[in-house]
Amino acid sequence: MIRSVVIVGGGTAGWMSASYLKAAFGDRIDVTLIESQQVSRIGVGEATFSTVRHFFDYLGLDEREWLPKCAGSYKLGIRFENWRKPGDYFYHPFERLRSADGFSLAEWWLELGDRSQPFDQSCFITPMLCEAKRSPRMLDGSLFVSSLDGSLGRSTLDDQRAQFPYAYHFDADAVARFLAEYAVARGVRHVVDNVREVDQDSRGWISGVRTDEHGTVTGDLYVDCTGFRALLINKALGERFQSFEDVLPNNRAVALRVPREDATDMDPYTTATAMSAGWAWTIPLFRRNGNGYVYSDQFITPEEAERELREKVAPGRDDLVANHIRMRIGRNEHSWKHNCVAIGLSSAFVEPLESTGIFFIQHAIEQLVKHFPDAGFDERTIAAYNRRINRAVDGVKEFLVLHYRAADREDTPYWKETKTRVLPENVRETLDLAEAQLLDEETIYPFYHGFESYSWNTMNLGLGRIPRGARPALRHIDPANARAEFAKLKAEGEEMAAALPSCYEYLKSIND
Ligand code: FAD
Repeated sequence: MIRSVVIVGGGTAGWMSASYLKAAFGDRIDVTLIESQQVSRIGVGEATFSTVRHFFDYLGLDEREWLPKCAGSYKLGIRFENWRKPGDYFYHPFERLRSADGFSLAEWWLELGDRSQPFDQSCFITPMLCEAKRSPRMLDGSLFVSSLDGSLGRSTLDDQRAQFPYAYHFDADAVARFLAEYAVARGVRHVVDNVREVDQDSRGWISGVRTDEHGTVTGDLYVDCTGFRALLINKALGERFQSFEDVLPNNRAVALRVPREDATDMDPYTTATAMSAGWAWTIPLFRRNGNGYVYSDQFITPEEAERELREKVAPGRDDLVANHIRMRIGRNEHSWKHNCVAIGLSSAFVEPLESTGIFFIQHAIEQLVKHFPDAGFDERTIAAYNRRINRAVDGVKEFLVLHYRAADREDTPYWKETKTRVLPENVRETLDLAEAQLLDEETIYPFYHGFESYSWNTMNLGLGRIPRGARPALRHIDPANARAEFAKLKAEGEEMAAALPSCYEYLKSIND
């Protein structure tokens, strides 16, 4: 029986893993987390995916308690700016498409829609709430989608039946600190020390990790959360890392923490703005913005990227310190090898677009609990785990490749090159089909990767890939129900935008 787990690394991945293992197994498993003070956390990872709600609810944490401690705010979706052409924008919301007579409103928009009205504004409520900068909660705490109010309980991504309407923005360091407190209070042993050597037995399995001051720490299972360093899985065990740089363009980022001039002016969404050689994020936290520029160093130097970012988000604020990051894009062939499981940046990272880093951590730790080994470490269980992890990452990779390929922009060498870069065969087929019709669950990447067909269609339509026409069947169906559904959606959106408080107003009420 496995009785002890040693986690190396105390970033978001390390502390999410430690706290989740304690929430799942309590005292039946001993957990030790070793964190170096010499190596800092990556310091980014501030926007999440709506499914993160399952994670916090599983831990039994009340949003009103933890969100204020992490400078948290709400994210109703992502606003993409300038990806088609300068001045153009659309939202990718956390909202599934409604349907009428068995066809989604996106199909009906193609058939009936006024093309001067953008698809997203016509088919979802969320863009109306984003434009009005609304909170998803009323001042009494109730959620605007009343059917989803309350805790999701000890549920996991596998149980996700409904689309939760929002995710969070938060300060990544504050979340790590908060989860550390949670985990230590539940019995996690916290060792602040540097791991300098990984010991292996004659089979190549990890037998202990040697620290500077605490001797050798041993356990039955080791979790590598050392970030891009991947000290255990790649450096010690030599697992092969598959780069995605052939299909995805960006390999660097520069980040800035920028105070908001008007604290009350808070957008309830992440903004992803296309730039000359990549894209820039704006993530509004409660008291400041997180900003960054993700780019390819083939087209722009770090100094030029920093300058372009500063001009855009912090002109005249030379006092703000820039964090330059080299990104390792891709995934391990096997994130679980022998008695070592890599979670977080040591396992895989695609890039920050669509905010999937923390989602991958959540998915991995949930799957680790579901595939938790016994002392025999059954190779078939390990293979099943690795398959699930790889598929989730590969699905996101394909979804992101589509972003760059489908985006209309071709006005700089970088954007031109995104149109000639290697295209995975599946994405080629998907894009080809998308010219004829909207996609469905069978025609997007077919394994769980967090994104549903509504997301793939939203991105295609928003980026300018609009099918030649609606499905011919719609011409033979009375459109009365579809028209009624569009009208209902608009009325609901307007009503909610009028009734809900501003995002800032609500968050202030739980911060006071
Ligand atoms: P790190 O934060 O790097 O932590 C590594 C830990 O390992 C540290 O505690 C360090 O001290 C420890 N360590 C290293 N070496 C040793 C050693 N020898 N001994 C002991 N300890 C050691 N994800 C999202 O979900 N949303 C986003 O918006 C987002 N934006 C991103 C933007 C960028 C530019 C990048 C690069 C990533 C982004 N991510 C995002 C991903 C997200 O940042 C990571 O998934 C998340 O922070 C987890 O990081 P980590 O814990 O794996 O690594």
